[in-house]
Amino acid sequence: MVSDFRLVVLGSRGSIPVSGSEFEIYGGNTTSFAVVDRDYLLGFVDVGTGLMAYPAYGLAPDGPIDVFLTHYHWDHIQGISMLDLVWAGDTEIMIHGPGDPETALTSVIAHPWFPAVLADAPLVRYEPIFEAVEVRGMTFTPFAVEHPQGAVGYRIDGPSSSVAIVTDHEAGSARDGAILEAIRGVDVLIHDAQYLPEEVEAHRGWGHSTWEDAVAVAADVGIDRLILTSMDPGRTDTAVGALVHNARKRFHATEAAYPGLSISL
Ligand SMILES: [Zn+2]
Repeated sequence: MVSDFRLVVLGSRGSIPVSGSEFEIYGGNTTSFAVVDRDYLLGFVDVGTGLMAYPAYGLAPDGPIDVFLTHYHWDHIQGISMLDLVWAGDTEIMIHGPGDPETALTSVIAHPWFPAVLADAPLVRYEPIFEAVEVRGMTFTPFAVEHPQGAVGYRIDGPSSSVAIVTDHEAGSARDGAILEAIRGVDVLIHDAQYLPEEVEAHRGWGHSTWEDAVAVAADVGIDRLILTSMDPGRTDTAVGALVHNARKRFHATEAAYPGLSISL
């Protein structure tokens, strides 16, 4: 079955936004994906600084939207402070996230960190996510990943395709087996590749993977397409291209996320 649902990459940079001529292909904005039906904006997965670009893709809501958050580190939430839909007050926004999304967001989108107060936004509601949530025929299923302060990934099962999003996850923990089971059978895997294999030892416990880790998961679960994300802020276009080249030797259908990349659901 062919569907009109898709994910659009709005930002895929890890840690902090970057800009400049060395970041024009893979982008400098932090993690956010739009969930789309044709040109209708149905919601977002994560609301990093990439979120602000959604109108540039001709997207607009046609009703309530749903936001699914993986965790609350700055690079995954900061865009919501500047989301026009929050402050215009004519779109209902349901924010799903692990733990306590209301406290996590309203305590920092507030004075003195920001001039507007998220807790005063009239149509924003919050719901802790524990299990699968259905949105217009798509199912969003969270699963725990390995990351400081805790985080989840999402498996999104759409009418025609399924996608797993693992933005921030350190491979090599006891959680790996459960993650493989949670994503088994998906068509597309979007996976953290922040560090190079030679960098990861110096960053143990920081909560990120390498392209080698991502390729190993992709091969294990037998997906069709691997999309690497959460690139280190210092990773230039040239460097991302080089790591994708290396990854393709192990798993051919590998690419790196870039703004505007569209993934069918
Ligand atoms: Zn994080």
